[in-house]
Amino acid sequence: MGKVLIIGAGGVGTVVANKVAQNCNVFTDIMLASRTKSKCDAIAADIKKRSGVELKTAKVDADSVPELVALLNQFKPELVINVALPYQDLPIMDACLECGVNYLDTANYEPKDEAHFEYSWQWAYRDKFAKAGLTAILGCGFDPGVTSIFTAYAAKHHFDEIRYLDIVDCNAGDHGKAFATNFNPEINIREVTQKGKYWENGHWVETEPHEIHKALNYPEIGPKESYVIYHEELESLVKNFPTLQRARFWMTFGQEYLTHLRVIQNIGMARIDEVEYNGVKIVPIQFLKAVLPDPGKLGENYTGQTSIGCRIKGLKDGKERSYYIYNNCSHEAAYKETGAQGVSYTTGVPATIGAVMFMQGLWKKPGVFNVEEFDPDPFMEQLNKQGLPWHELFDIDLEL
Ligand code: NDP
Repeated sequence: MGKVLIIGAGGVGTVVANKVAQNCNVFTDIMLASRTKSKCDAIAADIKKRSGVELKTAKVDADSVPELVALLNQFKPELVINVALPYQDLPIMDACLECGVNYLDTANYEPKDEAHFEYSWQWAYRDKFAKAGLTAILGCGFDPGVTSIFTAYAAKHHFDEIRYLDIVDCNAGDHGKAFATNFNPEINIREVTQKGKYWENGHWVETEPHEIHKALNYPEIGPKESYVIYHEELESLVKNFPTLQRARFWMTFGQEYLTHLRVIQNIGMARIDEVEYNGVKIVPIQFLKAVLPDPGKLGENYTGQTSIGCRIKGLKDGKERSYYIYNNCSHEAAYKETGAQGVSYTTGVPATIGAVMFMQGLWKKPGVFNVEEFDPDPFMEQLNKQGLPWHELFDIDLEL
């Protein structure tokens, strides 16, 4: 049915390329492009072995609009799936506008020189995409992504009014390394070391990093210490579901991980400004990325599972109701299927489903949208079919 260009050949790009190839009835012509072409070629060769599907590959510097435009004009895709880094969101959106191509990503824009992310930069493209008759789908990974769609699904089917939302993200996997991040280390460390923030009674409440924490029970996993951090889907969810009185995001961290993180910060390795080293300018956090394990390569010995979901309280037929919807994903199963670990898998599968939704015309309207603004039902159906089945619990103690 359509031509798709995937940009980014890391852990998430590996999964998207595999899943897009598995859906070759929808995606008839597939190109994988990234900064390092050899990585695209290696992924394409592996997919050829796994599924027999041929992918085209290309080199592109996605910080450069002219390079992107040249590639888009040459390949002429209907849709770009952006799974490079958040820094590239705006150049890729600019190139899509210039070439009349639709857009989907999994993380909101972040400037390189400021550890700060928010949707305003991308929401500012609404009129441009609307006028061009193009669709931009923002934040279509797991969180943001599936968590936002779970919320929309709950609001549509199970509540008259949702009041309290707690997104809970647990990685109970073991990769066997002393310290590693599950997705791009630079983006990950910038995200988890910032101050915490949650929504309450119409305004944002800021906390010190990791100040609020408690043990939460996760299905098939048990209790894990979970920390309130700020996460990008909260920004759009409180706008799109204005009945929310409180919205928080919890993530589990092990003590070892937090100790390493503290040391990394204390010794200045999390700095994002340039320092001079032997006459060369380097950014410490980028250097750190170069010596840490590659998240895309963690899969081989990764055991255990992730469990991510939404715990919601609200009103149904005038009565209080509690609801928990979640998915558990096995790192081993993800690796067996795609060669990547569970965190890349839980991001890449929803990105692919979002692209399927677009190609099938189900999520297609001119403008820039967060995923909860589309009909959740066909997406939820696909989650069950494409490897991320979900489960619901009603009227239980949410612990929150
Ligand atoms: P990786 O670092 O593993 O991969 C990033 C890829 O982007 C690499 O192939 C890299 O190229 C490429 N890249 C970086 N800069 C450029 C550039 N200027 N031009 C072209 N390609 C570039 O990251 P992940 O795969 O772990 O994460 C990918 C994205 O997914 C990130 O934006 C991340 O924030 C997001 N994410 C979203 C989640 C969600 O649930 N919503 C969860 C996890 C991640 P090279 O190989 O040369 O370095």
